[in-house]
Amino acid sequence: IEWDQGRGWHDARLEPYGPLSLDPATAVFHYAQELFEGLKAYRHADGTIVTFRPDANAARFNRSCERMAMPPVPEELFVRSLELLVETDRDWVPTAEGHSLYLRPFMIATQRGLGVNSPSSSYRFIVIASPSAAYFTGGIRPVSVWLSEDYTRAAPGGTGFAKCGGNYAAAFVAQAQAVEQGCDQVVWLDAMEHRWVEEMGGMNLFFAYGGGADARLLTPALTGTLLPGITRDSLLKLAHDMGIPAEEGRISTDEWRAGNASGELTEVFACGTAAVITPVGRVKGRDGEWLVGSGEPGPVTMRLREELIGIQYGTHPDPYGWVHKIC
Ligand code: PMP
Repeated sequence: IEWDQGRGWHDARLEPYGPLSLDPATAVFHYAQELFEGLKAYRHADGTIVTFRPDANAARFNRSCERMAMPPVPEELFVRSLELLVETDRDWVPTAEGHSLYLRPFMIATQRGLGVNSPSSSYRFIVIASPSAAYFTGGIRPVSVWLSEDYTRAAPGGTGFAKCGGNYAAAFVAQAQAVEQGCDQVVWLDAMEHRWVEEMGGMNLFFAYGGGADARLLTPALTGTLLPGITRDSLLKLAHDMGIPAEEGRISTDEWRAGNASGELTEVFACGTAAVITPVGRVKGRDGEWLVGSGEPGPVTMRLREELIGIQYGTHPDPYGWVHKIC
């Protein structure tokens, strides 16, 4: 779908997957006005195909648009584009358990010219789809994380809350450092003091205290520098309904370490569309490393994971109407 200043959104079309032909002076190549979203289509046992909270993805996309001086995509148009693509060939949605069709809406600035002083006057919104299996190979294996002090993902007033490609481009070097340190994923800290935990790679983090019947959860608050994950938002509500108080707040790396050492902090997990919920088993930073609990997935993590996957795949009730039927 194309947008320009005179006509707004127009020329919606469905095309076979293939290369785009763009002028070398196209604005997105130079000034990175680019945004994306990520969500999945799931096949239920009765054959129904659904997505999960596409309205929330549309809302986040439009908050990102505002930050990047790009035109909003009305929610109805955003959701209808997803539906059209999936309806075109429902066999694209995998049948194997835990598999899904990953949907990637994105938008690029298409004005030609190298002027840098104003945003592009034209844009293209595109959705592509790709069948996906489990995100981390090896199923629900706890990941190890590296606390990144050399690099920050986002600064106050920046684009941390927006899903723009530049945030991810700037993250590769930190992720490579995490791997060099023998860890699976990078954990981002705040830009000012390098001690408040923000998020992990492409996922938000939750901390579980107490375990058993007294379990309670903490997740870093949305300060503007981390991505407001839709999985995070869903888990805050589900945890509450399951009798697990869940709060937004802050936790420093020292508190994380001390919590694991005293046994008060029993579980840590990361959450996002791609990997759903992934336990964190081991933490490493400049000052040493430690295990989270026993290093194995904990009961709070597994209960929440089962509940969320159950809603997405239609085996558990959907009290908030999050499941959106496509066909
Ligand atoms: N943080 C970042 C940086 C991400 O890229 C993602 C994935 N979109 C998330 C968190 C989790 O967001 P969601 O639950 O909406 O997938």
